[in-house]
Amino acid sequence: MFARSALPVIAVAATVTLLAGCTSTASQGSSGSDISLVKSGKLTTCTHLPYPPFQSRQGKKIVGFDVDLVDLVASALDVKQEIVDTPFEGIQSGEDLNANQCDVAAAGMTINEVREKNLDFSDPYFEATQALLTKKGASYKALGDLKGKKLAVQQGTTGEQYAQRHAKGAKLVQFEDLALLLTAVKTGQVDAGIDDNGVLYDYVKDNPDTEVTAEFNTGERYGIAVRTGNDALRKRVNKVLGDARADGRYDRIYRKWFGTAPKK
Ligand code: GLN
Repeated sequence: MFARSALPVIAVAATVTLLAGCTSTASQGSSGSDISLVKSGKLTTCTHLPYPPFQSRQGKKIVGFDVDLVDLVASALDVKQEIVDTPFEGIQSGEDLNANQCDVAAAGMTINEVREKNLDFSDPYFEATQALLTKKGASYKALGDLKGKKLAVQQGTTGEQYAQRHAKGAKLVQFEDLALLLTAVKTGQVDAGIDDNGVLYDYVKDNPDTEVTAEFNTGERYGIAVRTGNDALRKRVNKVLGDARADGRYDRIYRKWFGTAPKK
């Protein structure tokens, strides 16, 4: 019943094998605390592209709100951030972190209880809610309007879960990434798509033939994830987030990507 998207998932399994079991204590930073990094001299971040404005490719670079926040952590550790693009499923399940594929996962990822069992989250750094994207003029303004219609969901996400619980009677069509979901809505392959409000509002800015017709008030908060028990790194991430909120760097980064000041 769930149609998988046609695009192949790009696996990074080879990297996993190389890195597994060989963490190095790479950075003492200026803190003197003992933070082990999977690749010495680098803070390796798992993410799933594209998810603008949180992470996406711009030419050869990967840019976005999450990228800028993790850069602050990297710079506090005196290392450079290196980003690994990998399917969201392995990120949210904790598998990639456990396989030492990365030190942190930053992927617009919602903090929730199930995930907390498999990885540890930083303090929240962003608030989000699920939202509905349609072609402009389509009259789907609630999940109840989608009975018998095709609703696009993104694999492994809280949006998919929300649709499974609340979009009774809709035909859920699963996509491996955000770009495929957005294109499916725009081209009429599906009737609507559900995903986080931040990414959908970002999309409609450049795609006026689409619109966001509903928000579902799911009260989500994003966290940066570390391997279960990696308290040294988690605490450092929290320290950097706290400092950045206090000294204006968080606000500057927020404005850069969202054009407004964060809600207080
Ligand atoms: N916030 C959603 C989740 O955590 C979507 C994340 C994403 O697709 N990158 O499931």
